[in-house]
Amino acid sequence: MSAPEAPADCIFCKIVAGEIPATVVHESETAVAFRDLNPQAPTHVLVIPRSHYENAAALAAAEPATVADLVAAATAVAEADGLDEQYRLVFNTGAAAGQTVFHAHLHVLGGRSMTWPPG
Ligand code: 5GP
Ligand code: ZN
Repeated sequence: MSAPEAPADCIFCKIVAGEIPATVVHESETAVAFRDLNPQAPTHVLVIPRSHYENAAALAAAEPATVADLVAAATAVAEADGLDEQYRLVFNTGAAAGQTVFHAHLHVLGGRSMTWPPG
């Protein structure tokens, strides 16, 4: 199945294409991981599919194996940053949940203690 056409102004598609710079820490055939521009923890990495989907649910419906690839990439990032299996993975979905970029992305947060529930 081919991915839906990406909006021309999607910043994460531009990062995948190398059109805007990012500190890439991990890449696979289906995923790219790079450091968040505005980190909320000592490790704050975004793992995104190369294909454009608006959110994790749309990605899971169309390319379920890629969701597993994102989690595998997140695991590799957490290991590389020495997080010792202590980290948080987050898919914000919808503006009310804090989603601001509408290209599916998995946040990897770690390197400090965290509280629950999140704000
Ligand atoms: P959301 O709020 O949609 O869950 O997460 C979007 C994340 O993307 C935010 O944490 C924000 O700091 C990050 N971000 C937005 N624009 C850029 C960018 O151009 N480069 C990088 N590296 N991160 C970005
Ligand atoms: Zn995109």
